[in-house]
Amino acid sequence: MDNERLAELLFPHIKELPEDVEARFPQRTLPEGAKVTRIAPSPTGFMHFGTLFPARICERLAHQSGGVFYLRIEDTDAKREVAGAEKDLIETLAYYRIEFDEGVTVDGEKGDYGPYRQRQRARIYQTYAKQLVREGKAYPVFSTEEELESLAASDKKTEIKERDWHTDLAEDEKQKIKEKRNFTLEDVEKNLKEGNKFVLRILSDGDPEKKTFFTDLIKGKLEVPENDEDFVLLKSDGIPTYHFAHAIDDHLMGTTHVVRGEEWLSSLPKHIMLFRYLGFKMPKYMHIAQLMKLEGNSKKKLSKRDKGAAVSDYRRAGYPPVSVNEYVMTLLNSNFEEWRSQNPDKDYTEFPFSIKKMSTSGALFDFDKLNDVSKNAISRMTSDEVYDGVTDWAKENDPELAALLTRDPGYAKKIFAIGRGGKKPRKDFAVWADVRPYVSFFYDETFERTDPYPEKMPKEDVKAFLSDFVEAYDVNDDASAWFEKVKEISEKYGYTGDMKAYRQSPESYKGSVGDTSGALRVALTGRTNSPDLYEIMKIMGKERSLGRIEAAISEL
Ligand code: GLU
Repeated sequence: MDNERLAELLFPHIKELPEDVEARFPQRTLPEGAKVTRIAPSPTGFMHFGTLFPARICERLAHQSGGVFYLRIEDTDAKREVAGAEKDLIETLAYYRIEFDEGVTVDGEKGDYGPYRQRQRARIYQTYAKQLVREGKAYPVFSTEEELESLAASDKKTEIKERDWHTDLAEDEKQKIKEKRNFTLEDVEKNLKEGNKFVLRILSDGDPEKKTFFTDLIKGKLEVPENDEDFVLLKSDGIPTYHFAHAIDDHLMGTTHVVRGEEWLSSLPKHIMLFRYLGFKMPKYMHIAQLMKLEGNSKKKLSKRDKGAAVSDYRRAGYPPVSVNEYVMTLLNSNFEEWRSQNPDKDYTEFPFSIKKMSTSGALFDFDKLNDVSKNAISRMTSDEVYDGVTDWAKENDPELAALLTRDPGYAKKIFAIGRGGKKPRKDFAVWADVRPYVSFFYDETFERTDPYPEKMPKEDVKAFLSDFVEAYDVNDDASAWFEKVKEISEKYGYTGDMKAYRQSPESYKGSVGDTSGALRVALTGRTNSPDLYEIMKIMGKERSLGRIEAAISEL
């Protein structure tokens, strides 16, 4: 076969040679050891929580080493594309502070190795495709429309299905494809004249009995059989399959580390063959296990339909991005939590992320753990940060709360400052949705008296105590003077201020200052549990506090 002629027939519009392309994608000049990583999502649906894992790994690997991290959009499968998915992806990644140096970003494409959307790189792939044809390493298979349809279906199956790599296509299917290797240039000319389309297949020289060793940075040393399938490189519309685009793009864009889901392990023999045929050096690979969830006692994959699968759920539920990021870090590196407790003031990006500390099996997704991590993360924020986080969230999800908080930002920030800072900060919020019930009593519009007064106190005592308290309250009292007054009034009605004495002989008293301050708490906040009363009153101010208590008295 005259391969040169075949290449011309198939790709008459391609005038460039691979070396011309290579000249436009020079090797990157980066410091020694710098890693170039990417994520390469397909805009085929909502963003899965699992996407944050490779994204964060890649981001850390690149930025910890002074390298480059970029976003490539793998839009080769137009049929599966979902409108708006790309925009959603880009915005969601930005929201989670997954910051790209290059590629498709919120501000458009940037970088010298573009275009970063694969459909726009069609000619680049075709240049290499033409070269493979010239070298007798690829061949066309012409089909009628109908045949193409079924081919596309089986190709999709091969690409997406998770399975063992030994079972790509059935033996007889592989053989059937190989029979198509026999054709003449005349057949090709005739097909082209009739307007028939072709897919370009690799001409595999592999023998599956032969195994090669391959080292995956997470899975370790793997034995991989050679590929013996004449898989598709270019589809009939001239757009590449994932395999072909992966080899060419990661080569041209200088990727040093490919981090991707372990469902791609089965395609590794194909990729090894492709890099060899194209004369490219392979990047290093990390195949990461799918996220798991616990169902009963067994581990199951976190599927698309599970709670927590869609990244957007976290935003809606009110997890701040930092909480999700911290949680991802705890799942990625087993020593992150220890580091976190030793370095409470550092940003998680200062943690020395290490591939070696990653688990080889799937991380277990757990909402309780996420909530715990989130409470800690929020407890480390300043009250301004809490205010900004919760108002942003509330504007989209709880407009009434947003209106209350933004009406008087200073007031709201004082509320959020309660118990903040110091060695043992309060941990009231796991999600921003927890803020409303926590702050509701600070606002007359949302205040509700939900809890009863202490059982030990008859109504008259509550009334009398509260009335005296209103009389005695002085905004200038400090915390201890304030409490002395509370105790004094308590004593007057037979409720001791001496807790020790009370514990020793409770029968000698009507009750204790625990009961009276409990009554004050219910009058003021409507609940039996709240932060420090003195502090609450300081924030609410004299008028609002005493007004609240007076209203309580008149309701009694
Ligand atoms: N487009 C592929 C996917 O979404 C990317 C895999 C890779 O990172 O190479 O699974």
